[in-house]
Amino acid sequence: FLKGKTALITGSTSGIGLAYAKALAAEGANIVINGFGDADAIEKERVALEAASGAKALYSGHDLTKVDQIEAMMKEAADAFGGVDILINNAGMQHVSPVEDFPVEKWDLIIALNLSSAFHTTRLAVPYMKAQKWGRIIQTASAHSLTASPFKSAYVTAKHGLAGLTKTVALETATFGITANCISPGYVWTPLVEKQIPDTMKARNMTREQVMNDVLLAGQPTKQFVTPEQCAAMAVFLCREDAAGITGANMSIDGGWTAQ
Ligand code: NAD
Repeated sequence: FLKGKTALITGSTSGIGLAYAKALAAEGANIVINGFGDADAIEKERVALEAASGAKALYSGHDLTKVDQIEAMMKEAADAFGGVDILINNAGMQHVSPVEDFPVEKWDLIIALNLSSAFHTTRLAVPYMKAQKWGRIIQTASAHSLTASPFKSAYVTAKHGLAGLTKTVALETATFGITANCISPGYVWTPLVEKQIPDTMKARNMTREQVMNDVLLAGQPTKQFVTPEQCAAMAVFLCREDAAGITGANMSIDGGWTAQ
């Protein structure tokens, strides 16, 4: 049902972003993927997306902590496809540290990537969406857009900010056929989670198993990791006409975490 539409997904070379790209390609959309990684592996994914969609897939490997590179990515998408119909702001990073030791450059990077990049892609995508009176803006926020955990000051700040940006954009675009929503997963088993285990072990003086069970899944009542595919299914639904009335919402997929 997305034939002729173009979806740009930031941070889509792995994890949840790649799952979004696959699910939207399966519905026939042109896809722009972005993110870092091994060039051969990314090219393989790009080709697989084209095979799945019967449409075009473009890789734009820009660093989204830099405004000029975000602008270059959005221009590449516009040059290739005329504009972006579905914008998914998903690129994100994490750093775990007590606030008094939090490295200043990590704070700046996390705010730039997890929050400011979504502002920049949105301001560049909205004029096209308004002109055609259709658009979908979807953020991968987080349970941390609704609640906090210790030692994640930059991440929690950025995700709460992203939730605020989304509500504001939803109000500004409400009469233009555009919706803006957050998908807020709890813990999803991806490289982002795997990489924070060593620092969490250090910050909390715990073993790997203790971090998995007593920190990560402690707050998730289902005691199951959410899957990237479950997040992608929600994104596909938000693109449907059935979801045209959902805007400014924060869709939790967190195994009950924020119900507590
Ligand atoms: P991931 O590490 O697998 O994916 C992150 C993606 O962002 C990768 O494609 C990476 O190359 C890209 N990226 C990193 N730095 C970048 C930069 N400077 N410029 C452009 N791209 C960059 O992680 P993931 O778990 O799939 O995370 C995706 C999103 O989901 C993030 O916003 C994260 O905060 C959010 N999230 C994850 C979880 C979880 O438990 N994994 C939970 C809630 C929210």
